[in-house]
Amino acid sequence: MTPGRLTFFALVLLLGLASRAAAEPAPTFRIRILAARDYRAETLRYRQQLERLVAALNHRTSSPQVRFDLVEIRPWDRLSAQASLGELVEDLEKREPGADVDWVVGIASAVPLVPTNNIGKARLFGKHFVLRSAAFHHYSPTLVFLHEWAHTLGAVHVTEAGSLMLPSYDVRAQALDPVNALVVATVLRARQAGTPPDKLLASLRAILRDRGPPWPEYLREVAPLLSRRAEAPPPCRDRARERAIDELSPVRKPAGKGAP
Ligand SMILES: [Zn+2]
Repeated sequence: MTPGRLTFFALVLLLGLASRAAAEPAPTFRIRILAARDYRAETLRYRQQLERLVAALNHRTSSPQVRFDLVEIRPWDRLSAQASLGELVEDLEKREPGADVDWVVGIASAVPLVPTNNIGKARLFGKHFVLRSAAFHHYSPTLVFLHEWAHTLGAVHVTEAGSLMLPSYDVRAQALDPVNALVVATVLRARQAGTPPDKLLASLRAILRDRGPPWPEYLREVAPLLSRRAEAPPPCRDRARERAIDELSPVRKPAGKGAP
């Protein structure tokens, strides 16, 4: 099922509110994964690694409960170690618009040559995100994947313990917090309906009106972003656009003996 056919009931499922009562399957989205040249070179059986990631995503029982149909793993003809994650997201968008899929995911080399802590980056309200393959070695790749995926649906960092949207990796953070889950469901529904950005902004304002931090600042930041999306794409070096690309930092080391 594509977002265009996503039912409201499936959105309820996404929020995890009816996960026990409902026998309906979780919504399924089509994804294409592009594997950078150096990631492929350094990873034995990289295709199996990516297929295992998707299988793990599809067996989750925490919010968000979604399924992914891996339509293709395609070589990404570039070296990713030298590039920042922001540059990689932009390159991915240019090379693979992904008109026939719901999301395009790039997998980059594990260790960047320029030291950085970041292991993932996404376009806010976009359909592209990039993960460094370090996510497979030291973290839970499913949690890193879903964190970035949620950013593309408008989710932002919160400080709520246990939220998938903590700014630093935490293996205990397994599920979306309720407000981010509401934002994700709202943006998904807008994609389904082809809702204009100004109407989506009005919906977000309605559900976030009386929330505390970080939501007032969030609304101030997404307002110009959504307005701009109704027009031409902004130039690559636009500062507002830079802010719209998120990074997940692994400052907080995994707790316990290994990630799930
Ligand atoms: Zn993030």
